[in-house]
Amino acid sequence: MSAAIHQYNFLDHVRTWGAHRGQRELIAHLEGKELSRAESMIAMCYGCCAGYTDGAKDCLVPNCPMYGFMPYAEKKQSDRPKRVLSPEHLAKMAAARRK
Ligand code: SF4
Repeated sequence: MSAAIHQYNFLDHVRTWGAHRGQRELIAHLEGKELSRAESMIAMCYGCCAGYTDGAKDCLVPNCPMYGFMPYAEKKQSDRPKRVLSPEHLAKMAAARRK
């Protein structure tokens, strides 16, 4: 099966999925349109969850690198603990910025 045939069938399939965040973006991608990074991320989760056919909810895969950006994740990227930098590390970063 060629990639073109596979994409065509997948696009038709995606159009039958529920209208949740990411459907418009995934359809746009499959139609060959360029997406922003944020649009690509929600399109990815929409496709990964098969259009949220069992409901728009958390995928519960926190070890996925996309999880913090998943539209329906209960724990968002911004909720994660911030990295604590030592004074030495901050000084190195400041010095690097001055170069
Ligand atoms: S965060 Fe969840 S829905 Fe999104 S790509 Fe990863 S596993 Fe799939």
